[in-house]
Amino acid sequence: MNKETNMHYGADYKYIPTTSITSGTGIEVLPDLYQFTVQIVNILLIGNPEAEEKFVLIDAGMPKSSEMIITAVEERFGEGRRPEAIILTHGHFDHVGALIELVEEWDVPVYIHELEMPYVTGEKRYPEPDASVEGGLVAKMSPMFPNEPIDLGNRVQQLPTDGNVPHLPEFRWIHTPGHSPGQDSIFREKDRVLIAADAFVTVKQDSLYKVLTQDHEINGPPRYLTTDWQAAKDSVEKLARLNPSVAVTGHGLPMAGEKLTKSLEKLVRNFDDIAIPDYGKYLH
Ligand SMILES: [Zn+2]
Ligand SMILES: [Zn+2]
Repeated sequence: MNKETNMHYGADYKYIPTTSITSGTGIEVLPDLYQFTVQIVNILLIGNPEAEEKFVLIDAGMPKSSEMIITAVEERFGEGRRPEAIILTHGHFDHVGALIELVEEWDVPVYIHELEMPYVTGEKRYPEPDASVEGGLVAKMSPMFPNEPIDLGNRVQQLPTDGNVPHLPEFRWIHTPGHSPGQDSIFREKDRVLIAADAFVTVKQDSLYKVLTQDHEINGPPRYLTTDWQAAKDSVEKLARLNPSVAVTGHGLPMAGEKLTKSLEKLVRNFDDIAIPDYGKYLH
């Protein structure tokens, strides 16, 4: 436990030796939207470095990845630069993995949906990952993933209830539960940019081969951590109705245009077949 801030990770927090070919690389999706892959998960930087804008970090990567994230931020925005805030889409270990080191380095506020607060203030752990779920090797590995809650103490705040996103005036957050109770996706109306979080992803997250190669296809939320499939389905329908022009997701490469529209339509139409596992402990 860090004495100054009282923040600490769960007792089972550790480096996870799983990675993909895109780890350590970034993609400029738009001039003010940059996706960077940390092993198997994406973080996002919103803000245009050419226009010398302030910027915000979405999510905080894998355990033990803070140096990688700080380097990525400084390579894009310049040495010593720091975000205005860190917005979390949800509190799973692969989205909060470097959070404490980043908050200590940058001293910036952290925001998350109110229903995720217990999972990032040490009060509640998520249900155990389901290693028995229909899926591939990543699902089988999931029991080794950290599941004890991170405790950010008073360094984390609730997102405003009116849909506004602090420091991102053009964006609104949208509640997309199912994968986790308080997951939020983030949307910008003017160019219909969607930050989907893990509501749907563009790689089959439970297949180790597809995670390694980042095979580009839309899937439902990662199965081994999704506990409410009806809510997950409703959330995908909600996001599809926004008719996004480009989507960045928690796992996998960005997707845009007709491929995105068609893939989302297909996922909505066939959600039970594509997304919902045939067997697993969180089906009923
Ligand atoms: Zn997740
Ligand atoms: Zn995830």
